[in-house]
Amino acid sequence: MEEQEKLRALARAAAWDEEGETAVAAGSCPKADAQALPIYWAAVGGRRVPLFKTLLTSACERHCAYCPFRAGRDTPRLTFRPATLAARLAALTRRGVAQGVMLSSGLAGGSIATQDRLLETAALLRRYGFQGYLHLKLMPAAEEAQIAAAMRLADRVSVNLEAPGPAYLRRLASEKDFWEELFPTLQRAAALRRNALAAGTPFRAASLTTQFVVGAADETDAALLSWSARLLREIGVARVYYSAFRPIADTPLENMPPAQPARVRRLYRAFFLLRDYGFTPGELLPPDGQFLPADDPKTWWAQRHLREQPVELNTAPRAMLLRVPGIGPRRAEAILRARREVTLRDLGQLQALGIPPAKAAPFVLLAGRRPPTQPSLWGEGPQTPPSSKPPTTQR
Ligand code: SF4
Repeated sequence: MEEQEKLRALARAAAWDEEGETAVAAGSCPKADAQALPIYWAAVGGRRVPLFKTLLTSACERHCAYCPFRAGRDTPRLTFRPATLAARLAALTRRGVAQGVMLSSGLAGGSIATQDRLLETAALLRRYGFQGYLHLKLMPAAEEAQIAAAMRLADRVSVNLEAPGPAYLRRLASEKDFWEELFPTLQRAAALRRNALAAGTPFRAASLTTQFVVGAADETDAALLSWSARLLREIGVARVYYSAFRPIADTPLENMPPAQPARVRRLYRAFFLLRDYGFTPGELLPPDGQFLPADDPKTWWAQRHLREQPVELNTAPRAMLLRVPGIGPRRAEAILRARREVTLRDLGQLQALGIPPAKAAPFVLLAGRRPPTQPSLWGEGPQTPPSSKPPTTQR
């Protein structure tokens, strides 16, 4: 097969392993479109970066129940040599088709040998001058020296845990050992990152992520969020990705229904509430419930806790401001800044700070008073709130 065609096929194969960090940027890059290459957007340091994802090989010796590349399945197997793939990727990035690369692989010849080939590819790519964003997969049970090498080369490394704990993992990937192969690899990477940051070494100190498959193992949202919270606490993951299960023909899970996109969206929303807003999994789940409610999780929580005890926006600490629907980290900072100068008295002032009045109004006090909450006024249309003047009252 011609090399360009092989690259296209392996990039499409990598697209199967879709992660929430990336969305196909259809039509966004004429150079990529011309070559029919899938390009994604990744958020990197506050910037959106066009990312090219590929596998080194679509051959695999394992039998994960959900995976199109499981051993024995009748599908084309393609493999690049590290030097060839690195040269191809360097050329793509030089031409501006992508500014970032995500590199993964099927397991062929064992984890250690596979990891070595990924490292060789990454090292050559850097040697060929690529200084952009690089996301490198760590194979199950990668050795400590391999993890350290990956973290020197990459901006991000990831280990796919696949399922929230060993019992669920057995249903998906019975050959993978959660406690021996997967979680310890993340733990070693986390320790290396902590040491590198503490020592201030000239080390990329790659950030860490993982991925769960959603909807393939009858796992509950409670299990997914409990593990997500643990990974934030113990590993310091930058992100947990929730990959919606899709049944693949000729796999043991071919007759299972696909995961609902709404469920995956709720899980992401809940993850950000854990990471950035100080919520715990228990606060986001109904009592005795194992799944997130269908409503937006933050609004659901606020309706149960803030209707009777609204948050006084002029005095509440940042942590409480973050609990109000419509107020995220940036808007909480805006409130803290504004109230050093003025008393917040009306919804127009909130709107001027970028806070949607209809979302926040039912849950807040402004100078001791509940603001009006008519949805016709605040929820829709271009109506102007009663006071949209800049705040003038001095405290
Ligand atoms: S290890 Fe499992 S998930 Fe990864 S490529 Fe092989 S079969 Fe697929």
